[in-house]
Amino acid sequence: MEIAPELRYNRSMRRPNHKAPHRFDLLYRSDALQKMAQETLDLLIVGGGITGAGIALDAASRGLKVGLVEKGDFASGTSSRSTKLIHGGLRYLKNGELALVREVGKERAIVFKNAPHLVEPVPILLPLRRSGSLTPLATSLGLWVYDRLAQVKAEERRQMLTAAETLQRVPALDGQELLAGGLYVEYRTDDARLTLDIIKSAVRFGGRCVNYAQADEFIYTEKPLGKKTIEGVKVRDRIHGKTFDVRAKVVVNATGPWVDGIRQNDGATETKKLVLTKGIHIVVPREKLSIDQILYFDVSDGRMVFAIPRGRMTYIGTTDTVYEEHLDEPVATEADIDYLLAATREMFPKAQLSRADVATTWAGLRPLIFEPNKGPSELSRRDEVFISENGLISIAGGKLTGYRKMAERVLEVVIQRLAKLDRKSYPRQGITANIPLGFLPFSDPAEVGVLIGQLEEELTQNQGPPELAERWVRRYGRESEAVWEQANGNGNPSSQPEDFLRAELRHSIAHEMTVRPADFFVRRTGMLYFQPEEITEARIDWVTEELKTHHGSELLDWESEKKAVRDLLTSHWARNLD
Ligand code: FAD
Repeated sequence: MEIAPELRYNRSMRRPNHKAPHRFDLLYRSDALQKMAQETLDLLIVGGGITGAGIALDAASRGLKVGLVEKGDFASGTSSRSTKLIHGGLRYLKNGELALVREVGKERAIVFKNAPHLVEPVPILLPLRRSGSLTPLATSLGLWVYDRLAQVKAEERRQMLTAAETLQRVPALDGQELLAGGLYVEYRTDDARLTLDIIKSAVRFGGRCVNYAQADEFIYTEKPLGKKTIEGVKVRDRIHGKTFDVRAKVVVNATGPWVDGIRQNDGATETKKLVLTKGIHIVVPREKLSIDQILYFDVSDGRMVFAIPRGRMTYIGTTDTVYEEHLDEPVATEADIDYLLAATREMFPKAQLSRADVATTWAGLRPLIFEPNKGPSELSRRDEVFISENGLISIAGGKLTGYRKMAERVLEVVIQRLAKLDRKSYPRQGITANIPLGFLPFSDPAEVGVLIGQLEEELTQNQGPPELAERWVRRYGRESEAVWEQANGNGNPSSQPEDFLRAELRHSIAHEMTVRPADFFVRRTGMLYFQPEEITEARIDWVTEELKTHHGSELLDWESEKKAVRDLLTSHWARNLD
């Protein structure tokens, strides 16, 4: 990746290495934790979701000495549980949030440019029904305004369809009820992998990012008059059990749903800065709800729901209900599932979906900024930065799509603080708009299709499944060449499905800090969401054995790790293993 000379802000900035994927494994992890404990960082970020990842990349690419600690796996919070769209936020237009629509509209074009393997433009159809709340005129006008605000490219602008054209595109709809259709374009992504690619980019620029490292408590410098300032964090390595004092000039709390809890650890007395709302998705086999494109439809209670085809599945979501239970591993309840099934039956009466058709589910928590007298769906999705008396900078709210802008807003405060502390100047402008993502980024979106074609050919020549090419390139980008090398062994290409999956696992152990079997099944491959039936007992066994061989039998209780995967299948309503 080349950075234009005018964007090179200072000499201390680390140059990316783009010859081979970096080592980003357990050894890197131990080394990074040791080093964080020995030096004083410019910035320590708590939280490895997309918000923390974005801040780490922005800061590291400005030449700051950065650390990031994540208590679970990267993206294990909300950032692997979203609707997985990089979108301009059509819904926010309805709430009059014009600035938000404008910003996220521009941002999605930047994310597409920087991660073309992970962000795919796809048409979305708004079906307009006689009994629905959307009229053709209002929809046409709304989409027109949206195109202008979000600065949509000419070829992706809205198109209005007749009822017959709409039905032709989606025969599963109820023809009697259809009035018209509105067509526009949004971008589909893989939220967990996008977060991981941003983390990898931060590491490429010298940031130290580790998973399974929990910020337990703050370390303070006492000042006169009973005042104190945060000077670091006690970080617990949840894999090896040690605790490190990590010192930093500035600490940022980017813990999404946990933001308020961490602020309270720093002594915040006013609570309820955040309201958490739960959103769930259900996944059904594509043959049960056969659609070839995304639909965004209104339900009789006035809410809007997505139905999104992906591989052999279609996923449907989401809900929006106030949540006050435990924050780790929220789950879909029977009532949540029944709500989405009823909403889908309303729009697709022919499909007659029932609980028996649900292949799996997931649930996530939106960390939203509290506003008095507003219901869950009326609360703004904007972000906000809070600064505590002791110097803790917290960021909450926002969207996947706006992660880069959120990072810029946080960096503005961080840079001001550092400049005051050190009495020297720091780069005021970020360069992330021009940083392609991952260890081996694409330099042009057109390369994605070329690589898929090349890999398809090689797989076919070696009796492998050609469809793996697209799956790998969309997951691993240019690193899919390294996965292919893994599968090739010592020049002996394999044609066995288990060997291909093993190649992915080995790659993710060496270059993606996969520690536990669940990291692999849930966030590296998304199998729990989109291929749950492929997580067989035999696979849980050999994936765990492989991890045990790499990491050592003492590292974790590997039988408990197998059980953790089985428990996840159950809590996600995934296919019963029996
Ligand atoms: P998180 O991803 O939750 O990350 C916070 C991290 O902090 C967690 O990984 C957690 O483990 C870690 N942490 C907590 N405490 C500690 C500690 N003490 N020490 C170390 N680490 C800690 N946005 C879009 O743009 N498009 C969409 O389609 C979309 N759909 C959505 C659908 C749903 C149902 C939901 C819930 C959200 C959706 N969003 C969408 C919003 C988007 O997903 C979130 O705004 C975003 O993922 C929040 O990221 P985050 O990094 O702030 O929080």
